[in-house]
Parts: sequence; structure tokens; C-alpha cells
Amino acid sequence: MAKKNFGIPDKVLAELIARDTACVYCHKIMIYPYVAKNSKNSATIEHLNFDGPFHWSDGLQTEDIVICCGSCNSSRGAKTLPDWFRAQYCIERNINETSVAEPVKSYLQRQKKKK
Ligand SMILES: [Zn+2]
Repeated sequence: MAKKNFGIPDKVLAELIARDTACVYCHKIMIYPYVAKNSKNSATIEHLNFDGPFHWSDGLQTEDIVICCGSCNSSRGAKTLPDWFRAQYCIERNINETSVAEPVKSYLQRQKKKK
């Protein structure tokens, strides 16, 4: 996994890794544990919600964490998902609201309800 695991308990992390074997965004099969030399294809922890909380001890929820590849993680950076979907990276790879994995879709639906 990435260098830090944000205090996520091993059991929760193992469940996420088992669920998200392919990147939730580009559906690439990822390398786990994290390989620095091949970070683009390695599994990384992705926070869906960039407003936080980011650390388990601060109330980070399982439903707000997914596993994505290093490429997608660094491409998204600090963008919101809708903003990132408009980026060239996503357009080229056909990454959008309807192509992403189920955990991301349900996150997006929860966000819409909040508004
Ligand atoms: Zn990816």
C-alpha cells in the first residue's frame, strides 16, 4: 500500500484491497503491496471526500475510501471527482460518472443527495 495508511485498521484495509482488485477509476489490475518503482500500477488509498476527515482517528469512514492505481491517484490530485472527470486524463481513458466502480458511484450519489 502507499507509504501511509491513514490509521485505517488492517482488517478494513484488507477488505478494501479484496474488493478493489482493479482500479476503481480505470479498472487496471493493480500491484499490491505498493511497489515504488512501479507506482503508476500500484494500489493506493484514495480518499473520495477531499473535505476530510482523512485519518481513521478523525472519523474517516470505510465508504469514503477506495483503492485506485497510482496513475489515477496522482492525476486526480486535489480535484473534486466531477472536476477531474473533465480532465484530459479521464477523457482519454473514458473515466466518468458511469464508468467508475460501484463504490465511487454510490459516493457520487451520496454527494448529490447532500446538496
Ligand atoms: Zn487507475
